[in-house]
Amino acid sequence: MDSETLTFPHAAPPMPGEVTQIAPGVLWFRLKLPFQLNHVNIYLIEDNGGWLALDTGLGTDECRIGWDNILTGPLRGEKLSQMLVTHFHPDHVGLAGWLHQSFGLHLAMPRTEYLYHLMAAHGRGDMYDGAHRDFYRANGLSSETTDVLLDRGLNYLRLTTGVPISYERIKHDDARRIGGRDFRVLTGGGHALEQAMLLQQSDRLFFAADQVIAKISPNVSVHPVEPDDDPLGCYLRDLQVGLGGFQVGPRLLKLLVEFGGFNRR
Ligand SMILES: [Zn+2]
Repeated sequence: MDSETLTFPHAAPPMPGEVTQIAPGVLWFRLKLPFQLNHVNIYLIEDNGGWLALDTGLGTDECRIGWDNILTGPLRGEKLSQMLVTHFHPDHVGLAGWLHQSFGLHLAMPRTEYLYHLMAAHGRGDMYDGAHRDFYRANGLSSETTDVLLDRGLNYLRLTTGVPISYERIKHDDARRIGGRDFRVLTGGGHALEQAMLLQQSDRLFFAADQVIAKISPNVSVHPVEPDDDPLGCYLRDLQVGLGGFQVGPRLLKLLVEFGGFNRR
């Protein structure tokens, strides 16, 4: 990728409690995260009198307050219609349970991501320290760092609010109409397992979630549950062919950034 060709359509990201319109009927806002990567981008897509929430934020009070500020501020009088969650990471699925309970929102999500969320939420996490300790140590972590990781226990559960007991499966190459637009669902592995993206070619919108991130590459990790997996190979393959034939070359990346439907970090 030739990063010199990238330009950003907005001089600055939206401030807390503000939304930025990135296309007619498409809004962008940010929720704060308590990590080094300190925010997650949330998009709202106009959807027949309501707004589809594309991802939900982390299951923390700070993110709930962030939603409240949007819904009582720039979105006052508007309603959410449904939510589409791209992948199981807690900063994306974290408030799905809360949004469902608060507003009755229907959830659409790739099956692997939905089931992996359930597994992570109901598993023993890093409390299962025997195999996890061996895995971390065999992959070069110091004993001290391993202890810190294992001490997190049910960290995933603390950062999520569950998911509705039923959901709608979305999968690669699905056509999905949202409001007046026809989107195509793409999926890719490596960062997550079956991360969903939304592409709308005529309006040149591409919501890449964490699969394609400006300036940095996404986290691509081997996890203890699949210690022999090859997520980097999967990620690179999916960038070449997995995006439904839309190669993520400089031209597409430039397009993504110019038109704002992009996870900027
Ligand atoms: Zn992620």
